[in-house]
Amino acid sequence: MELRANVPEGPIDRKWEQHKFDMKLVNPANKRKHHVIVVGSGLAGASAAATMAELGYSVSCFCYQDSPRRAHSIAAQGGINAAKNYQNDGDSVWHLFYDTVKGGDFRSREANVYRLAQVSVNIIDQCAAQGVPFAREYGGTLANRSFGGAQVSRTFYARGQTGQQLLLGAYQALERQIGLGKVKMHPRHEMLELVLVDGRARGVVVRDMVTGAIESHAGDAVILATGGYGNVFYLATYAKGCNTTAIWRAYKKGAAFANPCFTQIHPTCIPVHGDYQSKLTLMSESLRNDGRIWVPTRKGDTRAPGEIPDNERDYYLERMYPSYGNLSPRDIASRAAKRVCDEGRGVGPGGLGVYLDFADAIARLGEPAVKEKYGNLFDMYERITDENPYRVPMRIYPAIHYTMGGLWVDYNLMSTIPGLHVLGEANFSDHGANRLGASALMQGLADGYFVIPYTIGHYLASNKLEKVETTHAAFRDAEAAVGGRIQKLLGVQGTRSVDSFHRELGKILWNHCGMARNEAGLKEALRLIPELRRRYWSEVKVLGTGQELNQSLEMAGRVADFMELGELLCRDALERRESCGGHFREEFQAPDGEAQRDDEHFAHVAAWEYTGEDQPPRRNVEPLVFENVHLAQRSYK
Ligand SMILES: Cc1cc2nc3c(=O)[nH]c(=O)nc-3n(C[C@H](O)[C@H](O)[C@H](O)COP(=O)(O)OP(=O)(O)OC[C@H]3O[C@@H](n4cnc5c(N)ncnc54)[C@H](O)[C@@H]3O)c2cc1C
Repeated sequence: MELRANVPEGPIDRKWEQHKFDMKLVNPANKRKHHVIVVGSGLAGASAAATMAELGYSVSCFCYQDSPRRAHSIAAQGGINAAKNYQNDGDSVWHLFYDTVKGGDFRSREANVYRLAQVSVNIIDQCAAQGVPFAREYGGTLANRSFGGAQVSRTFYARGQTGQQLLLGAYQALERQIGLGKVKMHPRHEMLELVLVDGRARGVVVRDMVTGAIESHAGDAVILATGGYGNVFYLATYAKGCNTTAIWRAYKKGAAFANPCFTQIHPTCIPVHGDYQSKLTLMSESLRNDGRIWVPTRKGDTRAPGEIPDNERDYYLERMYPSYGNLSPRDIASRAAKRVCDEGRGVGPGGLGVYLDFADAIARLGEPAVKEKYGNLFDMYERITDENPYRVPMRIYPAIHYTMGGLWVDYNLMSTIPGLHVLGEANFSDHGANRLGASALMQGLADGYFVIPYTIGHYLASNKLEKVETTHAAFRDAEAAVGGRIQKLLGVQGTRSVDSFHRELGKILWNHCGMARNEAGLKEALRLIPELRRRYWSEVKVLGTGQELNQSLEMAGRVADFMELGELLCRDALERRESCGGHFREEFQAPDGEAQRDDEHFAHVAAWEYTGEDQPPRRNVEPLVFENVHLAQRSYK
């Protein structure tokens, strides 16, 4: 497999401009003749579908929710980065670029990250013009707050509901095109297969989730904007429906899967409280602007937080990383939390928690000011824990939150399958081994509003695409494969629920491929997962039939894919014999416990190639070249 990144020549700050000039264009009258399939209507998919339709393309858009308005992007809380430098605190495109490459521990492609920083400024203008109600200063200008891994204030926000407000903007743009007949929206349809004709992505097979009908849809190009796969760990901050199915099926059709082991652990989530919990809740990173993180200095100190005097508290992030303090990047802050809990200084049941304390902020700013900034997050915390965070510190612990890995894409966001483009969290692109806070929304919207509308035109104009009908044999084969898999799942008729298998898979992954990984543990996971998968296919019980609304069946298909992905994740983690970002191999750490990269052997993207059922996948590499940011030991001290 050849990994051609197609990064344009020239100085980094000119690449995108020059590329936009060099790319072929589709003339306006011809655009309507091209039909593009977009799977996903979160921020990445909705912005892409709306923008392409606005340009004149004919678009079909699919999502599994009852409305695009309910995509997981709605959950995003804290904010979206942009190098606007409204605060006049020294920010610039270069700073955002540099922070992102460094934040990702030098495992991302420079040219893509630079473009991301460049278009970040357009995103804010686009969204403000759509009416997204960003927080404003008293004088009316847009407000900012700080997020981890940056020493400037560049995060735009709408209280703790930034994702919801941005999605409303993209959704309205999408609805406008649906109304105009340029986008045909297919809610409650789940993509279960990608269809290739002559080696190119030419369509999808979907299941109507209400009637169970299996349908084919053909197009000139396919875009996957299907989100992240962190639910492979079972307990995560994702919406329960998030899955890997679309990208996993594409992987099995020849799309390389890049860096699957790069998963993000977010430091501030509400701790796990029991064996039968089904999901975790994030407390936004924005809270670290004003909240101070601490544990007691003494092991096993069970006093109530209010009884522990200041000199018996360890504000460990402020102590260990004085320049970034509580706003150290997520991977660093998560590991530090794990370390103090491993030392026996954790708080709450089981000692797996640290305090996030707002007492100082309330004393300094007053409770109304804190409420104005974070009110909905405080309410959410109180509803879940029954503790009032205005009075007692929040208890938080790291949890799975985001996946930096995903389908490999080139500079044009095209995968290794011609015509298959991948946007948003579903691709591997810009965040390297650790994503900085408030950068996922930025990337999803950059991909959808500002990158794909150009690059898809280049693909369509550069290739002669014969018309393909859904009567083509490739569609018939794909439909048969989908139908066969559904029948196989329904036919097992075992005794265990889908959920119980998913939970077991999640435990294996969290224990062996979670916040800390080592060779022995990963080998053990690689022994346990295939065994679990075998049991799944003989013991699972899927209720109902295929011809109806059937959530048991939907979940069963997704968990079957998670079982396979989980193995690839561990394999990738085993092969990457270094620590970087969120991938912490215990064998590779500096004397002070920080991650120890091995640039000589691992300054590359690992892109896995499917080679067949029960065959070991092939590991391909795309070397990463750093010409503008010097490879250096990452330090936030
Ligand atoms: C609690 C929480 C808070 C967050 N806060 C922030 C924040 O403040 N700032 C930030 O930058 N990032 C944040 N993130 C991350 C960010 O929200 C996500 O990375 C981002 O929204 C992903 O957008 P997306 O468009 O790529 O995917 P999604 O929003 O996940 O959308 C995926 C779409 O694909 C569809 N889909 C998936 N599979 C299929 C299939 N097989 N068939 C048909 N349709 C399918 C879904 O229906 C959906 O429409 C947060 C994440 C979480 C979990």
